[in-house]
Amino acid sequence: MGKNIQAIRGMNDILPDETPRWQFLEETIYQLLARYGYSEIRMPIVEKTELFKRSIGAVTDIVEKEMYTFEDRNGDSLTLRPEGTAGCVRAAIQNGLLHNQTQKLWYKGPMFRHERPQKGRYRQFQQVGVEVFGLTGPDVDAELILMTARLWKELGLADAVKLQVNSLGSSEARAAYRERLVVYLEQNINALDEDSRRRLESNPLRILDSKNPDMAEVIAAAPKLTEHLDEESRIHFDELLAILDQVGIEYEINPCLVRGLDYYGKTVFEWVTDRLGAQGTVCAGGRFDGLVEQLGGKPTPAVGYAMGIERLVALLDEVEVSLDRYRPHAYLVVAAGVEARMALGISERLRSAVGALRLEMHCGGGSFKSQFKKADKSGARLALVVGEEEAANGTITVKFLREDAEQKTLALDEIEEFLSKDTVEHP
Ligand code: ATP
Ligand code: MG
Repeated sequence: MGKNIQAIRGMNDILPDETPRWQFLEETIYQLLARYGYSEIRMPIVEKTELFKRSIGAVTDIVEKEMYTFEDRNGDSLTLRPEGTAGCVRAAIQNGLLHNQTQKLWYKGPMFRHERPQKGRYRQFQQVGVEVFGLTGPDVDAELILMTARLWKELGLADAVKLQVNSLGSSEARAAYRERLVVYLEQNINALDEDSRRRLESNPLRILDSKNPDMAEVIAAAPKLTEHLDEESRIHFDELLAILDQVGIEYEINPCLVRGLDYYGKTVFEWVTDRLGAQGTVCAGGRFDGLVEQLGGKPTPAVGYAMGIERLVALLDEVEVSLDRYRPHAYLVVAAGVEARMALGISERLRSAVGALRLEMHCGGGSFKSQFKKADKSGARLALVVGEEEAANGTITVKFLREDAEQKTLALDEIEEFLSKDTVEHP
């Protein structure tokens, strides 16, 4: 016998037990995006390696060590996308979507990063991302935050997540701040861990983002970027905060929030939770006004965010949500003596008559006992029994699997009426 082949570490199967929660999450997100007037865009999963190097930044974690890069048969260097923004910008430029127009776009799908797999951190993971092009904000920055706040409410997660915001300023302000920060950090070099010493030259702002508790003190005392913002970014940030205050969105200004990708400037934000251990960021984003030009397009302001779907699914596990509508209403149980075509005929008739009905028909025969076991496992509220007597009389017996109610035998048109009502009462 052959040895079992296992999936790649950090790339998970999502099993039927878990998919209702995924579907609930995804459908809630998609509907919300439509209600805000955002349009879906779909990009390839593989892009030229150059795209990510040029956009994300050569000395970021992603490009330095996390990309799945390979040579295809033509000798071109290709990469499985580690995030969606670069591809979205590429697609928008290539297809002329940015020419004299604004765009409110979203995308979904798998991303790939060669990270150390652990809870909330995988090598293939799902993101839903949103990108807005052609608007300078800060009203649109606020809209993105408001729409995510509404999403948490609709998912029942409002109490589980908190908003952190910061401004990274203009690239000039950031460069000047970077020099100050490096001077300060060099004065405190003994307090830095190895990783941070390495970053001192390549990406010093990321040191602020260090999770090493031994460095908390030196980071807390570091000069703050928010105190060295350029005038335009200062005004932008103040206006954003004023909008959030007005509409009653709570936030915390986190001067150490720098984000791991090079293309961000001005507004950055993260939604974080303390219920998932170390991997607590469920949604992260910010403004990237320079990226379109950097990738060859005309200068175009842009802002966006991406949500980590695995982390949100894990968070949904912590709250009570009803997932009944991802299970069948009814499971059709068929006596051994009843012909398959009759059972199929009844099932199809019920599906035609009751549009909202989710009906699973038992296939493959077997005893009533084993069929009822399956009916129970399916999560259905009702068992519809076609026994030999029912088949002869043109009736069906309804049994209630989840509540203490008397079973009843109804004629087929009565059953249609009953199910029409029942699917309204128990959507
Ligand atoms: P982190 O600091 O957790 O590494 P990041 O800054 O690398 O996050 P982004 O590139 O901003 O993350 O991605 C947006 C969101 O996607 C994250 O907030 C997180 O929810 C999710 N995410 C990122 N990397 C992973 C991963 N390896 N596995 C699962 N989810 C991820
Ligand atoms: Mg990361």
